[in-house]
Amino acid sequence: MSIYLDYNASAPIDKRVLETMIDVYENHVGNADSRTHGFGDGARSIVESARQQVASLLGVTPSEVFFTSGATESNNIAVQGLRAYAEECGKKQIITSTIEHKAILETVKAMQNQGFTATIVNPESSGRVSAKKILDETTTSTLLVSLMHVNNETGIIQPVSEVGEELEKKGILFHVDATQSCGKLVDELRELKYDMLSFSAHKLRGPQGIGVLVLRKKGYKLPPVKAIMYGGPQEHGIRPGTVPVALVAGCGKACEIAEHEYKKNEQKAAELKKIVVQLLNESGLKFSYNGEQGYCMSNTLNVCLQGVSSEALMILTKQYCGVSNGSACNSKSYSPSYVLRSMGTPVEQIENSIRISWGADTDPQALRTEFSKLLSTAKTLVQ
Ligand code: PMP
Repeated sequence: MSIYLDYNASAPIDKRVLETMIDVYENHVGNADSRTHGFGDGARSIVESARQQVASLLGVTPSEVFFTSGATESNNIAVQGLRAYAEECGKKQIITSTIEHKAILETVKAMQNQGFTATIVNPESSGRVSAKKILDETTTSTLLVSLMHVNNETGIIQPVSEVGEELEKKGILFHVDATQSCGKLVDELRELKYDMLSFSAHKLRGPQGIGVLVLRKKGYKLPPVKAIMYGGPQEHGIRPGTVPVALVAGCGKACEIAEHEYKKNEQKAAELKKIVVQLLNESGLKFSYNGEQGYCMSNTLNVCLQGVSSEALMILTKQYCGVSNGSACNSKSYSPSYVLRSMGTPVEQIENSIRISWGADTDPQALRTEFSKLLSTAKTLVQ
C-alpha cells in the first residue's frame, strides 16, 4: 500500500470533477468566444455556469471572476498588472511577507528592479505575520499589500481579515493569495475585505492548469489592474487567450462541490489530524511542531522529528509515503525552507522537518498503517 500526503502541493482530482470535464471534452466542442455558431454559444454557457459556481463559493458576483492558468498567473497579474496605475498615481511601495509563495516574492523582486520599493515583513515564530507590523509599514505611497491567507508549508492561517478591514479604511489595495484556503475557509473568505484574490483549482480537487483571479468591484469599477500579456479580449482583456472550457468547467465543479461539502470535509480533516498526532505521540520520537497549532489548518502538519534527517527519511519512505519537506515549487533540489527560516527556526530543526498534508478523502486506515511505517523508519535514523 502507499499513501499520498502532499495535498498542499496538489490534491487528487475529484471523480465528479473528472466526469464533468470528460463530458465537456466528449460532447461540447468549440471556442467560448465564437459568436457565429451554436457550438460557441454552448461552450460559452459552460464557462459562464462555472463562473457562477466560483462566484457562489466566494460570495462575489460572476463579473468579478476571471479565469487564469493558476495562482501563479493570478498573483502575477495582481501585482504586475498595477504598473500603469502606479505610474499614474505615483504610489510605488508594495508590502508583503517573507513567507509568501515564490509567485509573489519573485514578482515583487522583479518590480523592485523596475523602480518599485518593497517592504517584506517577517512572520513571528508562531508562523503568523503580525497584522500590526504590516499596517505599521503602510504610508501614503503604499500601492499594494499582498498577504497569503494560509501558508502552504506550515498551514498557518494569516490575519487577512484584520489587515483587510484596516486597509479598506486607508484606501490601500489588498491582494490575498487564497490558494491554500479556497474551498476550505469558506466563511472567512466570504466575509473578507479585499480587492484581489488568487487561487488554483488543483488545491481544491479541481484540475491542474486553471485558476482564478477575483477582482472586487467598488460600485461598477474594477481594481486598476491591466493585463500583463498582449492578445485577444478574453476574460475582459484581463487574461488573453482561448478559455480552456473543460478546465474551467472542472474548476467550477470543484468549487460547487467544496461549497456543499466544506463543513463535512473540515470535520474529516480534523479527525485525520488527530490520528497523525496520536501516532506521533505514541512513536517514542522526540518532536515539535513548526508553527503555533492554534492557528493551523486541520489538513496540514509541519513537524520536526528530532535527530531525523528529513531528506534521508523521504528517500527511505518514498515508495509508500508521499510527504515533503518544503514547497514542491522549491523542491527540485534541497535547501532549507525559507518559510521556516524566516520564522527563526534553527537550520538543524528545519533539516529534521517534514510537511504532511491530507484531504477529507484520505483513508484513515491507510494513514495509520503507512504513517506508522514512516515513523518506525524515522526511529532507525535518529542521530
Ligand atoms: N500560492 C500558494 C500559497 C501556493 O501554495 C501555490 C502552489 N504551491 C501557488 C501560489 C502557485 O500555484 P500554481 O503552481 O498552481 O500556480
